[in-house]
Amino acid sequence: MKEQLGYLVEIQDIDKAICELKEKKCRLPEMIEEARRSFDTAKANLETAKTELDELTKKRREKERELDVHEEKIAKLKGRLNEVKTNKEYQAHLIEIESSSQEKGRIEEELLTIMETLDSRKGDLKEEEKLISEEEKKLDVEITRVDREIEKIGDGLKELGSVYQAISSKIEESLLNDYLHLKAIRKDIAVVPIQNGACLGCLLQLPPQLIAEAKKNDKIMTCSYCHRILYWPPHYVETRKGAAN
Ligand SMILES: [Zn+2]
Repeated sequence: MKEQLGYLVEIQDIDKAICELKEKKCRLPEMIEEARRSFDTAKANLETAKTELDELTKKRREKERELDVHEEKIAKLKGRLNEVKTNKEYQAHLIEIESSSQEKGRIEEELLTIMETLDSRKGDLKEEEKLISEEEKKLDVEITRVDREIEKIGDGLKELGSVYQAISSKIEESLLNDYLHLKAIRKDIAVVPIQNGACLGCLLQLPPQLIAEAKKNDKIMTCSYCHRILYWPPHYVETRKGAAN
């Protein structure tokens, strides 16, 4: 019976390890999603920067055209200065030239501001492009890493599965069924040690008579409250040592 208990604890450990590996496998795709989200954000930022740059370039062309129009206008006005006949006309012409020159100056200032912004946005765009290629690399690395991890987990699960088969085949059928039933209803551990006179599953104090029986270790004892299978720790340790030798 001592051996049987040892096997039960071992398959419980294997079940726990299988469960942990499966949970880990479930969490892995989320890691890729995180990297993909960063990549998508970088992509969206790059698109915004490109649109902004296009709009600024369009504005620059518009201002350049506006400037050409004003320069032409000023040149024409200056050309006509010699043709005016009266002093009054001449003065009016000069005022028009002056006002057009002021307008031209305003357009030049606007153009300068646009060109400065354009230069700085071009720099931003380069940064965004650098960032997106970094995020893309990170995403690729993450996908490869997760794929490898999934493969490794698959191998681990296969190995644990065969060890489980080997050990469970040594356990009496009814005992194994009891274990599986307990595991299903308790949703955690089914085989627990006795510690400080209590069942480590439900933490309730066990009757001294039951503990005395469990210490003998010649039959399967269960907790009077939670019905988990009990074992007396020193015997279990001995069994495992024995199995290892
Ligand atoms: Zn209990």
